[in-house]
Amino acid sequence: MSDTYRQVFENNKNWAAHHSASNPEFFEHLAKGQSPDFLFISCADSRVPVNNIMGLEPGEVFVHRNVANLVVNTDMNIHSVILYAIEHLKVKHVVVCGHYNCGGVAAAMGNQSLGLIDGWLREIRDVYRLHATELDAIDNESDRYNRLIELNVLEQCNNILKTEYFQKSHATAGGPSVHGWIFDISNGTLLDLDYDYKAQMEAMKAIYDING
Ligand SMILES: [Zn+2]
Repeated sequence: MSDTYRQVFENNKNWAAHHSASNPEFFEHLAKGQSPDFLFISCADSRVPVNNIMGLEPGEVFVHRNVANLVVNTDMNIHSVILYAIEHLKVKHVVVCGHYNCGGVAAAMGNQSLGLIDGWLREIRDVYRLHATELDAIDNESDRYNRLIELNVLEQCNNILKTEYFQKSHATAGGPSVHGWIFDISNGTLLDLDYDYKAQMEAMKAIYDING
């Protein structure tokens, strides 16, 4: 077995010992349950270490990850996660976090087939088509790539607002709030795209309201 493989278990021993030493009840407390304020939906990219970039400890953020942080209507996996986070964990914030240098978005801007993942990445091509006027007006390819990454995040936020369970929660409990963020891998910072989910709900209401 590789050294990296063995090293992980060494790292884990040290990590557990460190936490137990600084707080003897740390794991006992964790084992009792979770009450995170955040649901964080991000790309599966290995360069996005969720708890680290948010400065949060175990138990403080509920996480779902997939290629290019997509919220796909027919994906039972992600909708089970979001519904559980909203209705049972009662998170205060749902964050969709994309990242610059996203390989999934880059692939969707190209014309090479990657096999099975083509269908998944087509969601991003749909985002491009929806915003083609804005994107095509950007001459610099790198700027267009970054803007598509941002627009993809905003459209995935919109996809959350379209669901019956989110609309019900918003009508009865006034939340949670929905946010679109970008993680900039080149300097380690998080950018808030200032997604105004309340205004967006109003704007989409005529077409997507299914809450009676
Ligand atoms: Zn990515």
